[in-house]
Amino acid sequence: MNNNGDTPRSKLVIASNNAGKLREFRELLSPFGFDVVSMKEAGFSKEIVEDGETFEENAHIKARAVFEATGLPTIADDSGLEIDFLNGAPGVYSARYAGENATDKERCEKVLEEMHGVAKELRDARFVCSIYFIFDDEDEYSVRGEVCGYIGDEPVGENGFGYDPIFMLDDDESMATISSDEKNKISHRAKAFEKLSVILKEKFL
Ligand code: IMP
Repeated sequence: MNNNGDTPRSKLVIASNNAGKLREFRELLSPFGFDVVSMKEAGFSKEIVEDGETFEENAHIKARAVFEATGLPTIADDSGLEIDFLNGAPGVYSARYAGENATDKERCEKVLEEMHGVAKELRDARFVCSIYFIFDDEDEYSVRGEVCGYIGDEPVGENGFGYDPIFMLDDDESMATISSDEKNKISHRAKAFEKLSVILKEKFL
């Protein structure tokens, strides 16, 4: 699959129109010679109902919908925050935990309220990223990356997005105090990417 420029590159769809995600996947996939396209660029514009109970199921649902419609190798991901004390919530509802149109700040506030007064030992949490890759009808892969931390008492740091300011890595650093370069080394997405890379290297290099 590695491409020396003589043959047309095979298309691979990322089941997302999110520019940040597409950039990250393009970087990850650059050694493998694919022409990486968004759902939109692949001509897919239907709404996908993500009604799975796990990150894996949702990533699978997205990848399958786009693969069936386009016939092209497809990669989808799903990610979010799991808090032990809340029995794994917000989990697959991470993006809409405080309602469809809520802001990141409102989502963080909701979690902080629910965790108010809870002892530090009971505040364990993890970010999870599941990536599902369908190459063809016989070849599908699912990988998961996780990063462990705990929920702070208040937001700390200005970097990142989503639940980063309330996700403490240790007593001094939250996911929103570290730089994006550092986050890209330790994050759930980075770990899932690493696992996918191993599979892609074995398969295509
Ligand atoms: P999705 O995988 O793009 O659907 O993201 C789901 C939701 O999980 C996001 O809207 C965020 O609220 C949360 N989330 C996922 N990854 C991160 C992260 O790296 N930092 C903070 N929040 C995240």
